[in-house]
Amino acid sequence: MPQAGRPVIDGYEFARGGGEISGSLSLADLPRLAELGVADAPEIAFAVRGGINERGKPALHVHAAGSVAMTCQRCLGRVAVPLAADAELELAASEEEVAAAEDDVDRVAASPAMDVVTLVEDELILALPMVARHEDCGPREAGEDGRSGSPFAALADLKARH
Ligand SMILES: [Zn+2]
Repeated sequence: MPQAGRPVIDGYEFARGGGEISGSLSLADLPRLAELGVADAPEIAFAVRGGINERGKPALHVHAAGSVAMTCQRCLGRVAVPLAADAELELAASEEEVAAAEDDVDRVAASPAMDVVTLVEDELILALPMVARHEDCGPREAGEDGRSGSPFAALADLKARH
């Protein structure tokens, strides 16, 4: 069930009417990302657009971009990971239809009250890297990342980049 205050759309109506909804999310909106090790998500911008896809079917285009903080698997400091998702989801009449489809088309079950943030969060989870690492860190790097042993230094470092 959609949570109070979150945008919901009627899937088919939104797609056929060419609807568009956009906004920004923080980690508080994205509990499943937090469960997957995302420590912070200062600002994720998203846009969901409705339309008819190349196959002539109603579809939702989900776009999201931003940066999240994760733990570097090498130095255990915080690392800012850019995150971008871009997906076209063809509307299906039911979860059964989604499950039964055997092609490569991404589908989502349409309903009269689809939770937009959940759609965006699903795509962000798919875009999340399995392992987060600084491009260059370790004992030989005495520079910027050398200070990131302390979580507070890592946080200050992260904030300085924004
Ligand atoms: Zn690192």
